Amino acid sequence: MFDVVVSGAGPSGSKCAEIIAKSGYKVALIERDTNWRKPCGGTVSSRIFKYYPQLHKINYQRVYEISMYSADYHNFKYNWKGIRDYGINVDRLEFDNFIRKVALDAGAELFDKNISFDFLTKDNHNIGIKTKTSTGVKEYLGKIIIIADGMSSKLANKSGLREKWKISELYLVKSAIMEGKNLLDKETISIFFRPYKGYGWIFPLSETKFNIGTGISKQNFQKCNINAIFNEFINEPYIKEFFPNSNYKELWNAAYPVPSSGVKVNSLCNENIMIIGDAAGFVSPISGEGIHPSIVSGQIAAETAIKALNEETISKQTLKRYKLHPNIKKIIMNFKLKNSLIDFFFDL
Ligand SMILES: Cc1cc2nc3c(=O)[nH]c(=O)nc-3n(C[C@H](O)[C@H](O)[C@H](O)COP(=O)(O)OP(=O)(O)OC[C@H]3O[C@@H](n4cnc5c(N)ncnc54)[C@H](O)[C@@H]3O)c2cc1C
Repeated sequence: MFDVVVSGAGPSGSKCAEIIAKSGYKVALIERDTNWRKPCGGTVSSRIFKYYPQLHKINYQRVYEISMYSADYHNFKYNWKGIRDYGINVDRLEFDNFIRKVALDAGAELFDKNISFDFLTKDNHNIGIKTKTSTGVKEYLGKIIIIADGMSSKLANKSGLREKWKISELYLVKSAIMEGKNLLDKETISIFFRPYKGYGWIFPLSETKFNIGTGISKQNFQKCNINAIFNEFINEPYIKEFFPNSNYKELWNAAYPVPSSGVKVNSLCNENIMIIGDAAGFVSPISGEGIHPSIVSGQIAAETAIKALNEETISKQTLKRYKLHPNIKKIIMNFKLKNSLIDFFFDL
């Protein structure tokens, strides 16, 4: 029995569990597999340091410049060195385990190798969640349940709060980590808009490692194959100039969908459930940046849960504070604006 059960120990779930545990409440952090590397470009803006000042001490590749290319390779650069803090390029396996540890140090209990698949109900109320493990089904009871298990969340669908994503709301994105001598400016991230509705990126991870990937709107996927699109992108002569040798080692690759149409505003909470991070669509349309907004949603959901527990009133009304928080409203508005610009942006 826990005060709060959080399903999913990615950036949103780990931040949420950390804040709740710090306030003294008992929190279970349920994770499918801590050895899974979330497919991701891994670039995080400097805003992350507000939430994780500890990251300043880690030797991640620092980013001071963004270089954006149109489909015909017109280039626009923005450099912020000396103006504001640097961003970082992270390996998601290391990063996710780092922030999980911060949550555990704060007092959250991690249950690894647990796959959440349904709610535990009593008198038509959700009173916890059920997970599959190698030793059978486990049950975690909680006064509040927080769904943080990513865009493919089963609980988000089963909560009745939101429907499955529509094809038009998704991008399919493939990412790889490559190793080899290259000509990349290590402090610059490069983003390439493609002639179709899609984009590619190269993000340096260290002197010799880089994350490279490409994504397409799923609407186009009936016609296109993500592996073919990825291969076409990394072999394009202009892109190849950044890593011209022939013997690059691919250390890892994976493809995954990203929700791209903004936050599901009407699906964020009910009487004892909140949905945060990717599971609720906290990914910026156009850029695909989701780590920072997911962490913000995790923090605000945690603060909302603590307040409701302190007041001993867990209800739709008290949990609605999450959805109505000024920072959540700001993210929703920002994503709405970006979403409305997608067609205009890609048409150009
Ligand atoms: C290819 C790609 C590139 C991206 N690049 C960037 C980038 O460069 N910068 C950026 O800011 N964002 C990027 N994003 C978006 C970013 O990855 C997400 O927005 C962010 O990871 C969301 O965090 P989250 O905690 O909500 O979900 P996730 O990171 O998806 O974490 C969910 C967690 O829940 C666990 N889980 C899943 N199902 C279950 C289950 N049934 N039971 C228990 N646990 C479960 C998973 O193992 C995982 O640990 C990218 C996304 C993709 C797909």
